[in-house]
Amino acid sequence: MTMPPVLLNDFKRQWSEIGDDVLRAVAAVGASGWYVLGEQVQRFEADLAKFWGLPAAVGVASGLDALEIALRTLDLRCGDRVLTTPLSAFATTMAIVRLGAVPVFCDTDASGLLDLDQAEAILSDDPGIRFLLPVHLFGQSLDLDRLASLRDRFGLAIVEDCAQSIGAEWQGRATGTVGRLAATSFYPTKNLGAMGDGGALLTADPEVAARARRLRDYGQSAKYRHDEIGWNSRLDELHAAILAEAVLPHLRQWTQRRQDVAAAYTTGIHHPGVRLIRPSDGAKSCEHLYPVAVARREQFEAHLKSRGIATGRHYPILIPDQKALDGVRFEQKGELPNARAIAETEVSLPIHPQLSDDEIERVIAAVNEWPAAD
Ligand SMILES: *Cc1c(COP(=O)(O)O)cnc(C)c1O
Repeated sequence: MTMPPVLLNDFKRQWSEIGDDVLRAVAAVGASGWYVLGEQVQRFEADLAKFWGLPAAVGVASGLDALEIALRTLDLRCGDRVLTTPLSAFATTMAIVRLGAVPVFCDTDASGLLDLDQAEAILSDDPGIRFLLPVHLFGQSLDLDRLASLRDRFGLAIVEDCAQSIGAEWQGRATGTVGRLAATSFYPTKNLGAMGDGGALLTADPEVAARARRLRDYGQSAKYRHDEIGWNSRLDELHAAILAEAVLPHLRQWTQRRQDVAAAYTTGIHHPGVRLIRPSDGAKSCEHLYPVAVARREQFEAHLKSRGIATGRHYPILIPDQKALDGVRFEQKGELPNARAIAETEVSLPIHPQLSDDEIERVIAAVNEWPAAD
């Protein structure tokens, strides 16, 4: 008898867990007769800000928009340079480029997160760089103490890309609290996933929050009064209600389950050809992804597939190597060997809150039984 596959995300199981709450949220929005930027959005923003421990959250249409609007509130201008990572979702760089600014790519460390030693060296050499867009990749946290000291020493304006890091901490401090703003995403696969697209930016600065609220709504400061060119990037009531009513209330428990799965993998997986990419001491990951590095990637993936286990790659092509950047102005500091090594060897194992104990054991056994010889 073949076993059902172990999926990277199991949205049908999630639906059986939250479907009734989702339907109740939808019914409430329908009955309210108000569909965009209303009470549900306000309530969700308040709940999210409280969860995060930051004073203000502003709901927008996607994680990409959250990054763009966040950068705009820092008065990023055409031609400004933004230090960032070459190993992320393409949206991280797209936000910079769409504003006419210039991404400056710095290598990662061996775990795939921005190398803060190198970032420091680049900033020392090149005081013209005033913006930093780091990513808390895989749900792991960068060293927030070092990030804060770079911010203070170089006077940096920082947006933290927290699309993968909701709930992650550095020594008890949430990611997204060092930069002027945090940007996050509610894309369905994210830890706080909607049934469609959505995003938010968070900030402790009330003026920044107020400006972001105007920018998401055509730059309006009052009805039909437009003070600057903005976006149509409103979060709708349906998504806000679903997130507030059916998803956010589970987030702590789901994050705990992800952390339990990660702990089981970390103690259970022993294979000389499989390197676990784990958070550094001091970081508490929200375990958005469980990355490992293997030399013979295709073979490893085929082996897991033959055992009915799905895998992902985050990310197989470095951002500066993407065709879309042909003819786009960017800078690359060195050959980016660490980021390149991750791009060539990384495989993501299934990690989501609906994994059963049996499935966790199946993943561990399949990895450990990967034939070591060619
Ligand atoms: C998902 C993601 C984004 C973009 O979010 P969208 O909602 O898909 O626009 C940006 N950065 C990172 C690191 C992401 O994982």
